[in-house]
Amino acid sequence: MKTKTLDVLFHETLKDIYYAERKILRALPKMARGASSPELQAAFEKHKEETEGHVERLQQVFELLGKPARGKTCPAIDGILEEGEEALQDFADSPALDASLIAAAQAVEHYEIARYGTLVRWAQVMGMKDAVKLLEQTLQEEGVTDEILTQIADGSVNKSALKAA
Ligand code: FE
Ligand code: FE
Repeated sequence: MKTKTLDVLFHETLKDIYYAERKILRALPKMARGASSPELQAAFEKHKEETEGHVERLQQVFELLGKPARGKTCPAIDGILEEGEEALQDFADSPALDASLIAAAQAVEHYEIARYGTLVRWAQVMGMKDAVKLLEQTLQEEGVTDEILTQIADGSVNKSALKAA
């Protein structure tokens, strides 16, 4: 019998993003410490606080589903964060350090935007109005973070990455 309906897929994807958010929460302080621009440091610190809220909202969505909040290993975010760590090491003390950190951080945000964008639509079609609201709030914050990172890159980071210091 074909039994894997959208509610199963929704729950599996929720576990994926829950794992990802908790891993991102641990990575952001490292990225903040690694950044050389105070503006970029502040952006990472602010997003760390928002990410704590993302984890809490996901816990609320699990509750709405009547399921325990549990993550499931997400190889995609593991790979993206691994690349970020590599960037930190390979470009430490180099003019392109912040540009490489922004690139890594935007890959993370885009992953989250993809996941939340999908989850919002699935929650809508499943009639889970409260879940839609929670997931949309996070989706909006991920989008704003992505835009802020672009602004920081355009403002000074990319230009100062052009030349050896
Ligand atoms: Fe997030
Ligand atoms: Fe994020």
